[in-house]
Amino acid sequence: MRNFPGSTTPGGKVRPLDADTVRRAAFGRWFDVLVALGIPANVLAKKRNQPCPACGGRDRFQFIDKGQGRFVCRSLDSLGGDGFALAMHWLNADFPTALRAVAGVLGLASESAGVTIPRTPAPPAAPAPSKRDNSTTVARLWCEALQIQAGDPVAHYLAERGLDLSTYPDALRHHPAMPYWCEVAGKPVCLGNFPAMLAEVTAPDGSRVALHRVYLSPDGHKASLVHPTTGEPLDAKKLLTAHEGAMRGAAVRLYEPEGGGLALAEGIETALAVRLGSGLPCWAAVSAWGLENAALPESVTGVYIMADHDVSGTGQKAADTLARRLIGEARQVRVVIPEQAGTDWLDVYQSRQEGGA
Ligand SMILES: [Zn+2]
Repeated sequence: MRNFPGSTTPGGKVRPLDADTVRRAAFGRWFDVLVALGIPANVLAKKRNQPCPACGGRDRFQFIDKGQGRFVCRSLDSLGGDGFALAMHWLNADFPTALRAVAGVLGLASESAGVTIPRTPAPPAAPAPSKRDNSTTVARLWCEALQIQAGDPVAHYLAERGLDLSTYPDALRHHPAMPYWCEVAGKPVCLGNFPAMLAEVTAPDGSRVALHRVYLSPDGHKASLVHPTTGEPLDAKKLLTAHEGAMRGAAVRLYEPEGGGLALAEGIETALAVRLGSGLPCWAAVSAWGLENAALPESVTGVYIMADHDVSGTGQKAADTLARRLIGEARQVRVVIPEQAGTDWLDVYQSRQEGGA
């Protein structure tokens, strides 16, 4: 079962007063609390979609607050939550750790450390719900998915983006009926089942740690979804991670490295365009944060970092940080950035196709 950290009282069975006391004390003060935990104030102040301070991206994050520290990060399976959930996301920590951190900021640390004794005998400690384990769901959805076939929604979707593949990487599959969940008034609601492109995200040790999903219409367009109460457009791309922190160093390994050479891009479609345009084997790191933290096998000695040219500079910064690290690992590195601001290598590939070049 999915759980929404912070929207209930995780750990509350053990120490119900702790979380409630801290939650009451934090009400209306989340901006200051989260800044004290290190989230830049300008990120919280900007009431617009923007990169997530915890996990990057371009426009997946917004701090809404409403007194409870509410936020949206569309890379989370929960799509966001309250201030505790944001503290967990930012600190990459479980609920008890985030609770202690928040209590510390509010000067309640000693209380949360044990002065507040549960009134009823605590039941044996249940596994902390915040350490949710989605690995069974990840495995099941991947098993349910099919090989991509010419004419299916995924093949249509890719072809529509100019990505005419004759064979499809094994790391991509077609799920014919993927449920789309979103949070309505703190509760998970399923908006229906959609065809989806699934991408297998692999950890440095080779294990499957996440599924990247692009929800599609039956004719292979990106599904257009809106929030049932707010009418806000919902992202057709989502990431389901097996567990918290699973994305570190992980990538969609679309093509095997060749002769020690490998290219890296942020997006899956971008990586496919790199392959089609250059013949280089390319992996997708999923986000700028993922690119910055990519972990490559020792056998890879030459790396092309196919960065996005973001107007914000995010993609280039991630590429530079990665390049410095990879050079430190004694690899040959080239950072290649599209000339025009606001474009990535998929845009470049598409415009070359249109130009007939
Ligand atoms: Zn995030």
